[in-house]
Amino acid sequence: MKNIIIFGAPGSGKGTYSDEIVARYGMGHISTGDVLRGEIKQGSELGKIAKGYIDNGQLIPDELMISILAKTYDEMPAGKGVIFDGFPRTIAQAEALKQMLAERKHDMGVMIELIVDEETLMARLLNRAIEQGRADDNEETIKKRFAVYHSQTEPLAAWFEKEGMRHTFTWGGSKEAMLGEIFAFLDAENK
Ligand code: ATP
Ligand code: MG
Repeated sequence: MKNIIIFGAPGSGKGTYSDEIVARYGMGHISTGDVLRGEIKQGSELGKIAKGYIDNGQLIPDELMISILAKTYDEMPAGKGVIFDGFPRTIAQAEALKQMLAERKHDMGVMIELIVDEETLMARLLNRAIEQGRADDNEETIKKRFAVYHSQTEPLAAWFEKEGMRHTFTWGGSKEAMLGEIFAFLDAENK
């Protein structure tokens, strides 16, 4: 399986669709948000630093994030492909990922962009706040995360377009329908 970069706004379903893709194709999964929340839970030095940014709706600085990503990637089982969920989030991170994979003679693979309207995103995140109690899922922090997404992350879509990697999927009201489109695309990619 090729590597996959899953891309979209907070609440767009990156984690949910990643789990479905992993179940179907048996590849590795790196969720940078989960890695950081794991560090916070353990009370590590890294977790203490990360918490300050996450609770504020801000991104962890690029240099730190890039070194965490490289370490996590090198711990993954080789040869099965990896789904990158939540990384890259800035142009600098994308350039670093490209270089890291080139150094290892691995392919960047494909980028899957999830497009969901903001009203749906907000409703999902507020619902997740009730179900999972994530500290950054409150209305004020969600608004900051949307602003950060628009200013720092969304411009990356054009970067992927230029790399010839961008494939967009738009929310039409049904998870099964969107998942079916993504699977059809990935099945064809893997023929
Ligand atoms: P969802 O998982 O529902 O799509 P999300 O994208 O907001 O929502 P995560 O990917 O779990 O959530 O990220 C949570 C927080 O972790 C971010 O708001 C940010 O502070 C930090 N973070 C995660 N990945 C990165 C990254 N690549 N660069 C910088 N900060 C990151
Ligand atoms: Mg997530």
